[in-house]
Amino acid sequence: MPRFSDKSISNLTTCDTRLQQVLLRVVHDFDCTILEGHRDRERQNRMVDEGKSRVRWPDGKHNTVPSRAVDVAAYPIVWDDRERQTLFAGFVLATAKAMGIELRWGGDWSMDFEVKDNRFDDLVHFEIVE
Ligand SMILES: [Zn+2]
Repeated sequence: MPRFSDKSISNLTTCDTRLQQVLLRVVHDFDCTILEGHRDRERQNRMVDEGKSRVRWPDGKHNTVPSRAVDVAAYPIVWDDRERQTLFAGFVLATAKAMGIELRWGGDWSMDFEVKDNRFDDLVHFEIVE
């Protein structure tokens, strides 16, 4: 049964407990790596400058304490495998839904289950909807 690395656990503990609960369940069946939870001002604004995020600090969901967003990738990571990350996202979203937690994925910001109309892909990003 897959489990998180120490680094993944360390990143995940900066996240809202609902995100922790969902990902701890997901990793049992679908191995994955927690890339990032909370993001501080310097890093958030650098991500915007690099075109990797659209919102400056403190408006991002990664900027709250605890973080209301998590970046997580199927493991082993293959960055250009959109199909696999999409399968993983479906697994994460369904797991969360079954636990009564609504998440939004960066491959479907509009939450309409259409993945080809997404204008800003952030395929590792999941955030709590509230
Ligand atoms: Zn993110």
